[in-house]
Amino acid sequence: LPLIAICGRPNVGKSTLFNRLTGSRRSIVGDEPGITRDRIYGEIEWMNRAARIVDTGGVVPDDEALIPSEIFRQAKVGLEEADAIVMVVDGRTELASPDLELARLLLRGGKPVFLAVNKMDTDAMQSQAENFRRLGFRNVLPISAEHGSGMGDLLDAVFEILPEPAEIIE
Ligand code: GDP
Repeated sequence: LPLIAICGRPNVGKSTLFNRLTGSRRSIVGDEPGITRDRIYGEIEWMNRAARIVDTGGVVPDDEALIPSEIFRQAKVGLEEADAIVMVVDGRTELASPDLELARLLLRGGKPVFLAVNKMDTDAMQSQAENFRRLGFRNVLPISAEHGSGMGDLLDAVFEILPEPAEIIE
């Protein structure tokens, strides 16, 4: 199955989004031996098609100073493995330098990338998502992972570019 990677710094709502998209079809997969961070894989179905999805923020280091390097390490794994990447930002907070660096890394990576501007819980907030276009993404989608809004548009956009013919789900 094609793979979608969710990237972003801590607290932007990656795991909330992941849980909403996967329901209970998920598993925690250990990393290579010697590396303690885990990524969490799940399965997702949309319009009779299926994909795997990975939350690259499975485990966040306790040491704040390690967070940026861990985000980048995980993002690179996403860039290698995934067919599409969804970067999540918190639409209610100012962009921080890790967001800018992560965006740059992902945009250079050559894979299809989507920017999900999360925590846009009300209709009035959704127009704010446009402010995030300056990160350089062509696909900018306001979502509320908590309320479930914007999921259809996000999934339509991502599934449209996934490789592989439609997978029929029994
Ligand atoms: P992660 O560290 O990126 O995986 O972020 P989490 O999924 O753990 O979410 C971080 C915090 O943001 C939690 O308190 C969530 O409840 C909250 N959150 C996630 N999505 C939304 C949303 O759409 N709206 C609001 N208001 N809060 C959200």
